[in-house]
Amino acid sequence: MARNAIFSLFSGGPETEAVAAPKSTSSQALLLLKNFEESYKGWFWSTDHDGRLTYLSDSISRLMSEEPDQLIGLEFAELFVRADGASAARERLPFILCRHSNFEKLTVRTARSTDGRWWELSGSAQFSGDGSFVGYRGYGVDITEQLASSEQASELAMYDPLTGLPNRLSMSKYLEAAMAGIDLLGRSCAVLLIDLDRFKQVNDSLGHPAGDALLRQVSERLLRLVGDREKVFRLGGDEFQIIMPQCDDRDMLAGLADDIIISLSQPYSIDGSRCSIGASIGMAVGPVDGRTGEDLVRNADLALYAAKDHGRGCHKFFSSELLKSVEERRGLEEDLRDALAKGQLSLFYQPLVSTKTSCVTGVEALIRWQHPVRGFISPALFIPIAEEANMIDQLGEWIIRKACEDAAGWPAEIRVAVNVSPLQFANEALPQIVVSALASSGLPASRLEIELTEGIFLGESAETDAMFATLKTIGVRLALDDFGTGYSSLGYLKTAPFDKIKIDQSFVREATLPASRNRAIISAIVALADALSMETTAEGVETLDQLDLICSLGVSHIQGYVYSKAISSDELSRGLETGEWCIEASGPAKQRSTRKSMYRKVGAIYGGHYYSALVRNLSESGALLEGLSGLSLGAQLIVDLGECQLVAAIVRRVGDQRLGIEFGEPLVDDGAGGLSTSQRVSPYLLSKMGLATSDYLGESRALDQASSGSVEKLTTSFRLKFPSNQPDSGGLISNSPYKTGNGTGGGSHRSISNAELARLRAAVEVSHNSSLKYIIGLVVLTGARLQDLLSAQWDDVDLWGRTWTIASENKGRPTEVKLSTAAVDLMNQLPRWEGCPHMIANPITKKPYNSFFGSWDKARKKAGLGTLSIHDLRNSPIRTW
Ligand code: C2E
Ligand code: MG
Ligand code: MG
Repeated sequence: MARNAIFSLFSGGPETEAVAAPKSTSSQALLLLKNFEESYKGWFWSTDHDGRLTYLSDSISRLMSEEPDQLIGLEFAELFVRADGASAARERLPFILCRHSNFEKLTVRTARSTDGRWWELSGSAQFSGDGSFVGYRGYGVDITEQLASSEQASELAMYDPLTGLPNRLSMSKYLEAAMAGIDLLGRSCAVLLIDLDRFKQVNDSLGHPAGDALLRQVSERLLRLVGDREKVFRLGGDEFQIIMPQCDDRDMLAGLADDIIISLSQPYSIDGSRCSIGASIGMAVGPVDGRTGEDLVRNADLALYAAKDHGRGCHKFFSSELLKSVEERRGLEEDLRDALAKGQLSLFYQPLVSTKTSCVTGVEALIRWQHPVRGFISPALFIPIAEEANMIDQLGEWIIRKACEDAAGWPAEIRVAVNVSPLQFANEALPQIVVSALASSGLPASRLEIELTEGIFLGESAETDAMFATLKTIGVRLALDDFGTGYSSLGYLKTAPFDKIKIDQSFVREATLPASRNRAIISAIVALADALSMETTAEGVETLDQLDLICSLGVSHIQGYVYSKAISSDELSRGLETGEWCIEASGPAKQRSTRKSMYRKVGAIYGGHYYSALVRNLSESGALLEGLSGLSLGAQLIVDLGECQLVAAIVRRVGDQRLGIEFGEPLVDDGAGGLSTSQRVSPYLLSKMGLATSDYLGESRALDQASSGSVEKLTTSFRLKFPSNQPDSGGLISNSPYKTGNGTGGGSHRSISNAELARLRAAVEVSHNSSLKYIIGLVVLTGARLQDLLSAQWDDVDLWGRTWTIASENKGRPTEVKLSTAAVDLMNQLPRWEGCPHMIANPITKKPYNSFFGSWDKARKKAGLGTLSIHDLRNSPIRTW
């Protein structure tokens, strides 16, 4: 108030002067003005009729110039810039001053000083008695602090207070800017959505402050990896997002995603407690996966959903397949609503056989859906749909009633087991449904077994305990299903009243592998179950050697194809006709490792034509194509893998209707168990070249010569690279007999010295990819082909006999590789995981690597061996590591 009074006193017009003040008052006012000027809060100014300074308070003069006296006489308007840009300032202030109009609260900055202070300027034009303009008088106020706090407030709205990371609002703005002009300027942008796995458990068990501390540590780890504060966002809860403008290198993105997953999965220390979480990542790369920010985020979200569905702890790129599967899922959901009423669902029963007598003691009810169009649909696919669509209670009730009804007609000692999903288990009505089903069928409660998975323990423990107690009062039996796949906490077994533990089939499948620890684990489970008076059932026993082993470990029951698949109720009744059904085990003696063959439609461009072809096998370095003719050795072509993925290739082998081709650039892991090109071709460029995305995987046709022209022209336009002319004898497509590094593998190879090998070893040791040292070590020690190593399974290796059997790709004779002691030692050091048959697997996904070229490139560059290829290693005479 006082300030305004003082200002109006100073800036007032002649009328102010007209009011004669007593002398003492006016000198007091002058004193007050002086004090105020010296406080640096505000200052006064006046100009002559030309806008030149006639007065400026000392306080601001000193801020503006080292020689304050020299400011007098300068043009007032030149001293300031406006808040919204210098040019506008020069235009506006002189403009106002020229018009001799009054102005108030113009936000300006001093043009001369570098202290960055902001002022609010007011001025009133002064006129003499005859009405002619004589100049301005005015004042200025320092508003720097005021501005800073309002800026801070708007800044706060952009940041997450917990982690200090930019928030969702910032993300939208940043993404909008990154996507601007993406169409026209041919830019790219990648979005990574990160979701923490098991965060809720940490929050629940250690408390919210610990959860907050964990989120802060997560954000620090993300910042360390990405290295740029601006690109990492916290969207809320345990969701983070990274935006990488101008980035479409999927190999690099996959590497970053892997690094993030590995880093976030390392244990955290919070107030003396240790905890671990995981992370799943979904990625979308514009413009191929979305042309607007909104589309990109939605598609990254779909990819994230798929990553979680895939077992979490992995990354996935968006693909149109995902969209299709979402649509398909929606369609299935619709169909499932009618399936029960239309009689498309039925219960099948799989026998559970006693290991002592080989006779059936019970069966598990397994639901089957015969879809009128799609045929048989697995319950593993539609039960989760029923759960998400709130249909599981209705479906579950029908299953319980039908199973009881059917079982009531079987011999009295045969039990029926019914799967109950965690959502059903959480429904208070479950006990009543069970009682009613038992009553109406007349089945004694002791003949009904309810199979539960560890998922039920994720709910409230008090309610879980109460449900257990009620079911036990009814008298039904309880079995813990799929033991070994979830958290497998033995703690549950202490309190939950289970009558049986079902050991998951992934455990069983591994048990017969040499050096597998599953045997020891299975016998420990059996000992524990015996001590707690529980039965054990081994699930998924398929082969005779598994059966022998499982029996020798003391498991009480077997369920698996070695005895019987799930059969219809009628078939079961026939088996049980005589009152007792003993089954003779039958099946393969040993488990065979499965190899993936492929049947994928692609396009091939050569000779001015677009051809439709089939890929029969695919690796990162090449493919086997079917359906192309007229191509000879060394011919160049472009392969169109769909979704803007084009790769240049050379024909390396021609034979019986098939072509072996080598790619110019290696494909990379797409995170979904497949391979993709590292970069995608712009969809705009594709349509410009007459290869519109909508139909370019379609029928064979002639290409428009004017727009697309020859293979060479397309290759240049799309910036593709052909392989060097040196044939690659180590590629997947070679059918030459396996060579064990005698240096004669096709073409000339760079040989490597001992010193270079030592440098390489050091670089490989410190690679972020912990598997790289094993892979490269085994390439050196065995001379193995890369793709054979990557597809090797423990089944194929006999560490005692020191042999490794590699099946032929073309149904020819397998190759037997003798392993050196060093190779056996290295194989023994390889990490192994339960349920994972692969010799070399990604420690997070437990799936084989499709590509590790990123890690290899980094290592060889670090070792100063930029020109070295993996094939050089395998053909090198050096066999030490
Ligand atoms: P689950 O409860 O663990 O059932 C055992 C699954 O293993 C069945 O698959 C069975 O066919 C399969 N299996 C049994 N022996 C072998 C074998 O030797 N080798 C192989 N490879 N597989 C074997 P299915 O019928 O496809 O069911 C899959 C899952 O779907 C079940 O796993 C269960 O979680 C769920 N499910 C099935 N029926 C129902 C149901 O009625 N209600 C609920 N809530 N879930 C069900
Ligand atoms: Mg089951
Ligand atoms: Mg099971």
